[in-house]
Amino acid sequence: MATISKKLASLINDQINAELYSAYLYQDIADYYHGEKLIGFAKWFDKQAEEELEHAKKFIDYLRDNGEKVVLKDIKAPKNKFKGLRDGLALQLTHEEAVTAMIYRLMDQAVEEKDYRAQSFLKWFVDEQTEEEAHSHELLEKFDLYGSDLSVLYRLDSELGGRK
Ligand code: MG
Repeated sequence: MATISKKLASLINDQINAELYSAYLYQDIADYYHGEKLIGFAKWFDKQAEEELEHAKKFIDYLRDNGEKVVLKDIKAPKNKFKGLRDGLALQLTHEEAVTAMIYRLMDQAVEEKDYRAQSFLKWFVDEQTEEEAHSHELLEKFDLYGSDLSVLYRLDSELGGRK
């Protein structure tokens, strides 16, 4: 069986917690938009939450494949106070930027250890973060351009609701 360093295993355990927290965070944002009757926005963030659970699962599988124990830690509750419709979108962008920094930290460790398998595994997350940041940025930009126009906002909502 393949192995990884205790240090990398510990960082991955932290990342599992971070991915599960991301799911919590996006679920909270989804519920906010649901309350504002923006059902498409809510669906977008429901999907984001689901994706984060998949990310956690990928890290769990990686630890298992390397004979390391998964250590599940407490997930902190999101304490978001949304003052307006822009806040959920802005939060998504700053959160994804923070997650990218965490993935880079993992990659730095894998590079330092010359763990090529870990680097290959983590590359998927590096690419995923590029996509996540681009989507988050685009959505916020659209909102800033058109969000004050109610008819456009509702079109954006139905566009987001069409996400597969
Ligand atoms: Mg993630």
